[in-house]
Amino acid sequence: MSESVDSPALPDYAPLPESALGPALNEDGYHVGRVERNLFWVTDSVYVAAFLATPEGVMLFDAPPTIGHNLQRAIDEIAEAEGTPNTVTHLVYSHHHADHAGAADLFPDATLIGHEETRRLLLRDDDPTRPAPEVTFADSLTLEIGGERADLAFHGPNHTPDNIFIHFPGHDALMLIDIVNPGWVPIFNTNLSEDMPGYIDAPAQALALPWTHLIAGHLGRLGTRADVELHQAYIADIVAASYAALGSVDPTQYFVKYGPNAWGWVNGYLTEVTTTATRPVVEKYTGVLAAADIEALTYSTTFMLMQSLRLDKGVGSQVHP
Ligand SMILES: [Zn+2]
Repeated sequence: MSESVDSPALPDYAPLPESALGPALNEDGYHVGRVERNLFWVTDSVYVAAFLATPEGVMLFDAPPTIGHNLQRAIDEIAEAEGTPNTVTHLVYSHHHADHAGAADLFPDATLIGHEETRRLLLRDDDPTRPAPEVTFADSLTLEIGGERADLAFHGPNHTPDNIFIHFPGHDALMLIDIVNPGWVPIFNTNLSEDMPGYIDAPAQALALPWTHLIAGHLGRLGTRADVELHQAYIADIVAASYAALGSVDPTQYFVKYGPNAWGWVNGYLTEVTTTATRPVVEKYTGVLAAADIEALTYSTTFMLMQSLRLDKGVGSQVHP
């Protein structure tokens, strides 16, 4: 490139709070740690999966492709240390998304387990890296392998129409993926979630269960109940700010300016509503939740929650006289 070409300066972001980061990775690029007893978690600092190492084989929960072959390396490491088999006999899908399931084909001999909607969606998506589960359930399913137990439960759509709660009653742990990012704000659009009322309610459903350790699917550490409560506060603040902005932002100037261009005034008005609601939340959570200062993230989450207030809750809806 010639010196005359200016590359635009990339923005600087706020320093990450200490609570954002987890343990260092090994030279293969993963960290595997004990949750409790023979339940382990494995991360590449962005994605998290889990496995139970039992005398009858390994039960794996999710297979993120970014961790990929490091899943088996982590399992081998633990199997050797614990004197348990390293064969993955069962693989449970938390939900159908490729970023958490796209290394499932690395375990061709495992029995695949998931919600019945996961099966439908994976048959639809027809991705060879994510074979559809053979063992499915509608409401709940208790798995007992090698004397260890995992309770799978479906509480309705939230992040996706098939996202399940995986409770380990013997390990004081819950796995709930793509709802709360411990220490961090959700990525764009409430973690790219589909059902806003379900997404808002899921943390309370999680807290209703007994557990100490949360396997949340993202970033580099386990979560705590305090992480879930902080996430709830962030979402509640966005909902409250959106509610207030829907009541306070005056759309008149956009009607006057754009007249018959309906999408022109809709864009102007809803952009102002979203910006008004986003600003105080960004300010409050910068330094508290990592990446809260990346305004586009909170903005897009606010947009989703504000639309849900309008469309699911009917806020601001007016009947023509
Ligand atoms: Zn997902």
